[in-house]
Amino acid sequence: MRVTEYLENTNGQTLVSFEVLPPLKGGSMKAIFDTLDPLMEFKPPFIDVTYHREDFVYKKMPSGYFEKVAIRKRPGTVGICAAIMHRYGVDAVPHLICGGFSKEETENALIDLNFLNINNVLALRGDARGLDGKFVPEPDGHAFALDLVKQIVGMNQGKYLDDDIEKGAKTEFCIGIAGYPEKHFEAPNLSIDLAHMKAKVDAGANYIVTQMFFDNQHYFNFVDECRKIGINAPIVPGLKPLTKLHQLSSIPRNFYIDLPGDLVNEMQKATTPQARTQVGIEWLIMQSKELKANGAPCLHYYTMGDAETIRQVAEAVF
Ligand code: FAD
Repeated sequence: MRVTEYLENTNGQTLVSFEVLPPLKGGSMKAIFDTLDPLMEFKPPFIDVTYHREDFVYKKMPSGYFEKVAIRKRPGTVGICAAIMHRYGVDAVPHLICGGFSKEETENALIDLNFLNINNVLALRGDARGLDGKFVPEPDGHAFALDLVKQIVGMNQGKYLDDDIEKGAKTEFCIGIAGYPEKHFEAPNLSIDLAHMKAKVDAGANYIVTQMFFDNQHYFNFVDECRKIGINAPIVPGLKPLTKLHQLSSIPRNFYIDLPGDLVNEMQKATTPQARTQVGIEWLIMQSKELKANGAPCLHYYTMGDAETIRQVAEAVF
């Protein structure tokens, strides 16, 4: 089923969904199943699988010189999504990014997904690679998620890159996109960022999943601002537990979001790793209950391989 069919038919209930990371190179599907098995009792209608493009490192060679070597740290999403759908009978949503893909490679990936009956995708630009400093599209790739959305919408209309294909088979992808309640870090301001997001919805994106936030007011304001400018697509809050002291600086640094003072104080007061995990769990339960009470269509949890923390939160909320 399309993700929007779930989101638009909740009968007033709030749904739950989870996001998993492909295991690191050398890992296996077991890591994914170990994360998801304890979470399936909460009946998520769909599971997202993130995509991680190769990055580069400088490796010291026997000669003493350093060589730039490409590393592919995590496998792709197509096989993982098919395995999730087969094992649990739920929909899987692969994340598809612009970075590292030409338009043709994107088309081929979408054809593979369509063959496998994987009809939901989250269309993203992707981040800059470590050594690039800024996002660099492939010579024949997309510079913005908007262009990726347009390509997918084109395939839904039977339009392929090869002009000779006049009446191509129409795909039926339901398209999700990213939204940033505290603004994407490259955007000059929130209004401009929202205008860029609206362009994706106007081009045919069907729903939005947000970046994580730890103060629900950011989500409520974001939804209000979206509605004011005519973005009527469902907006799913993305949520993550903060459970470690170092995350007080790493989360703002990596995700360009603020942490509420009360959460920071509670984390700093906790004296053991277990106590900090508990602070994070209780905060996320509080956030989740408030979002649920205010009619969020679905709570989307970033598991980051930490099934137990998410399980405890879901148990208290659903
Ligand atoms: P875009 O919509 O292209 O926006 C990027 C920036 O460009 C924004 O600042 C926007 O305002 C600006 N912009 C847009 N259009 C224009 C225009 N026409 N002219 C000028 N500026 C413009 N990354 C991964 O690599 N893999 C994942 O699996 C992944 N999953 C994610 C899931 C969620 C829910 C979220 C919120 C993010 C995820 N990301 C993932 C991170 C994402 O790829 C980065 O945040 C990336 O920097 C931006 O992606 P986007 O799709 O929002 O890009």
